Amino acid sequence: MKLLEEKIKNEGQVIGTDILKVDMFLNHQIDVNLLDEMGKEFYRLFKNKGINKILTVESSGIAIAVMTAKYFNVPVVFAKKSSHKNVGNEVYSAHSHSFTHGKDYEMIVSKKYLSPTDNILFIDDFLAGGNAAFSVLDILKQSGANLVGIGIAIEKGFQDGGKKLREMGIELQSLAIVEGMDETNGVSFREQGSETRN
Ligand code: 5GP
Repeated sequence: MKLLEEKIKNEGQVIGTDILKVDMFLNHQIDVNLLDEMGKEFYRLFKNKGINKILTVESSGIAIAVMTAKYFNVPVVFAKKSSHKNVGNEVYSAHSHSFTHGKDYEMIVSKKYLSPTDNILFIDDFLAGGNAAFSVLDILKQSGANLVGIGIAIEKGFQDGGKKLREMGIELQSLAIVEGMDETNGVSFREQGSETRN
């Protein structure tokens, strides 16, 4: 999605070799019009697939998921991150690891909000090694809900999460795929086929 790529090029900040900071439009301050366009694009990519619920992970995925859910006219459920290992019987839980914070956590979703009749679109802000996505897959498996696809705002294509998920046959659509980045030369993107030119 050209609009997102331009925004990353102009306002993103590369930290070291593998962290892209986009606090000025996605992770701290939020550009509502950009997120609205992202929601519209996810709708274009996943409409007519019977999606009845959008699942994301707190906190950075929530804004994108909400904007997307407006187009699908479905609810958003967000997985919570808990530092407690003992999370109780009322929730589905999966062990995970935060790429940005370097910490382990339990990802939890109340059993009330996922069921075998659900057709889920999982939305997140970033895809790196895929830890968050694999924990979500684990939770969906426990609940019996069906994963229709995964929509990611920014995939770092030089990390292997995307490759692993596509190899599993999962429909993964990323609005921008960063092919490479460094502090001096900035960010380069993978060419993608079927996007709308906005
Ligand atoms: P993964 O679980 O795929 O390794 O990493 C994805 C999660 O880590 C995302 O939910 C996102 O919050 C965070 N993340 C991974 N890489 C980056 C990055 O370069 N920048 C930011 N801001 N967050 C990232």
